[in-house]
Amino acid sequence: MQSGRLLYEGKAKKLFATDDPDVVLHVYKDDATAFNAQKRGSIAGKGQVNAATTAHLMRFLESKGIPTHLIHQPEPGMLLTQKVEIIGVEVIVRNYTAGSMAKRLGLEEGLKIHDPIVEFCLKSDELGDPLMLDQHAIFMGLATRAELDEIQSLARRINTLLRTYLLDRDLILVDFKLEFGRNRAGKVILADEISPDTCRFWDRTTRKKLDKDRFRRDLGEVEEAYQEAYRRIISEVN
Ligand code: UDP
Repeated sequence: MQSGRLLYEGKAKKLFATDDPDVVLHVYKDDATAFNAQKRGSIAGKGQVNAATTAHLMRFLESKGIPTHLIHQPEPGMLLTQKVEIIGVEVIVRNYTAGSMAKRLGLEEGLKIHDPIVEFCLKSDELGDPLMLDQHAIFMGLATRAELDEIQSLARRINTLLRTYLLDRDLILVDFKLEFGRNRAGKVILADEISPDTCRFWDRTTRKKLDKDRFRRDLGEVEEAYQEAYRRIISEVN
C-alpha cells in the first residue's frame, strides 16, 4: 500500500490517501494539545501507543460485532482504515463524573453514573465542541434521526463491551469520546480512535489517572501513564 498525498492534518494525526480510494492511512503524532489547543506539548511514544491501543480495541469490538473503520496496522504508529465521511457529532459516554460534565453541573469528580450518559457535541474546534441535542444535529443536517439512533445504540454497546474488558485489566473506564463515519455503502461505522487521548482510564484500586488528564493537569509521569494503560489493555487475562 503506497501512501499518497496528505488529505488532512489534525492535532494528533495526519491522514494520507493511498492507492485505493476507499482506504486511508492514519499516522499518529506525539503532539498533544488540551483546552482547545491553548495548551500544547509533546508526549514521547504517544503516537505509537495510541495507534496500537486503537487497533487492539477496535479489533476486540469487531470480534463482538461492532463495525469499525479499522483494516490493519501496517507499522507502529500507523493504521490503515476504510475511508469514511466523518459525522460532525462527537459522542461522549460517561460512567463516572469528570471533566466538562463535573464542571458544568458543579459536581465532584468520580461519582458513579449507574445508567451511563451519552452526550452529543458539535465537532467544532472554533466553538469548543459545544454540547448539543440530537434535534440540533438533525436541524443542522449532520445526521438523520435513524443515524443518531444507530449511533446512540452503538455507543452504549461499545461502552458495555469496553467497560468490562478494561475492568478485567484493572482499569476503570470513566468516560470517552467516539466519532462515527459513513462508509462508501452509507453504513454508520465507528471511526477515529480509542486511546488515552480520548478516554479517561483510572486504576481500579488507587484511581490513579492513566490518561491525558496527566498532561492536561500537569500531573507528571505522562509518558509512563500512556505506556501503563497500553500494557494493561493488550494483556491477556484469564
Ligand atoms: N474528549 C476527547 N476530545 C474532545 C473532548 C473530549 O477525546 O474534544 C474525551 C476526553 O478525553 C474524555 C471524554 O471525552 O475522556 C469527556 O471529555 P469532557 O467532555 O469531560 O471534556 P474535557 O474534560 O476533556 O474538556
